[in-house]
Amino acid sequence: MFRIILLLVLLCISTISAQAAQIVYPKSDSVVINSDKTFFIGNECPENTLKINNEQVEIHPSGGFFHPVKLQTGENVFTIDNGEEVIIYKITRPEKSTPPQTKQINYNSPKTFITKSNNVPLRSTPVDSGLNRLQHLEDAIALNIIGEYGNFYKVQLARDDYAWISKNDVKTAENIDNKPAKIQSYIYDELPQKRVFTLKLSKKVPYILSETSGLDLVVYNVDGFYENKYEFHINKTGKPFGYKIYYKNRTELVIEVKNYPNIDKKTPLKGLTITVDPGHGGDEYGAIGCLCDKEKDINLAISLKLRDYLQSTGANVVMTRDEDKEIPLYDRVTISNRANSDIFISIHNNAPPDSSATANPSGTSVYWFYPQSKLLAAKMLETLTCELGTNNDKVRGESFAVIRNTQSPAILIEVGYMTDPEDNSKLITEEFQDKAAQAILHGLENYLNDIQ
Ligand SMILES: [Zn+2]
Repeated sequence: MFRIILLLVLLCISTISAQAAQIVYPKSDSVVINSDKTFFIGNECPENTLKINNEQVEIHPSGGFFHPVKLQTGENVFTIDNGEEVIIYKITRPEKSTPPQTKQINYNSPKTFITKSNNVPLRSTPVDSGLNRLQHLEDAIALNIIGEYGNFYKVQLARDDYAWISKNDVKTAENIDNKPAKIQSYIYDELPQKRVFTLKLSKKVPYILSETSGLDLVVYNVDGFYENKYEFHINKTGKPFGYKIYYKNRTELVIEVKNYPNIDKKTPLKGLTITVDPGHGGDEYGAIGCLCDKEKDINLAISLKLRDYLQSTGANVVMTRDEDKEIPLYDRVTISNRANSDIFISIHNNAPPDSSATANPSGTSVYWFYPQSKLLAAKMLETLTCELGTNNDKVRGESFAVIRNTQSPAILIEVGYMTDPEDNSKLITEEFQDKAAQAILHGLENYLNDIQ
């Protein structure tokens, strides 16, 4: 609260000496935005009257404002007038370019390529989107390519099973062996914390592991099975709680399924390892709020409080960062996976894309990628909107790198919108950050108690 009052005082003092409104977004007074709409956010002394192209802008008591505008093709000029000083913003919306027509080409005779690196996405459609990923494959797996579409090859996995792979992710090589593999042995280990299934193959082949009522594995190009498809169902005892699949010693396909932990209803987090990931950091600010505050700082403040609350419940907490520094997305994932984390939580605050700027979006949203994380996302959203009184901005499936590559249930929380003056004015207060951290803790507890 003190920060807001101080900011207001400063805002109003500064306008005495005839100052222009402070515009935080768009980032400069001459930008290119490829959308039919965008928005202005920034701050102005609430006593002043602010107009953008003669339309009055509503100023929040904190000084923040959000104002959507429409864009015509070509140059759009915006006059921002606070009665003290006028500033001009020029936003160029490029001409609509029609993408070149692409046609699917079917090859007369199939080609064989091999995957070029690890973590290569195999997709259900020839589109570089997030949610069409069927599987991530390892290096040096031979694939039967029967056609192409744009930048993708069509992969035939079995008689009626197809997938798509980016042309950049495969290469040709001499003497690629695309003959079916043989299953040499099958080993099942029941360990205290996990079940381990090992399929010893004569060579690496493609596979798809999907979550259903348990886990369904299909290994392709395997000799001695109908359509050369080896299908295998793993029952999950209790609710899903993390799994991974990988090749070991080149040709052993291993699936590890974590056992559901023994949880005490009173202290559900005790003994669990929780990775807390404060989004962005260092030179990567994330979204900038109406009052010029940076998302990375708010994310870290909430995360550090959450760490303390979690520790007080007996959880082991792993932080991907506990100071203001830049961490690559995959390092955040590695930190969580190496710690054999039970749950991964990434903490962010939101800003809308230009294209959805008509209304002023606000509130909390929670994102999941693997179905095993869906219930955690739902419980978290329910708890956060209830305890924080924020708008329900929904649970969504989204392909963010940090929740797609983690092996435990993983969610990404957008606590509020940096661009919404109301959300933003709360997010910058320590009181609200503390409340948010407590609500996230309660969301975790509600989830763990629910899945028992
Ligand atoms: Zn963010």
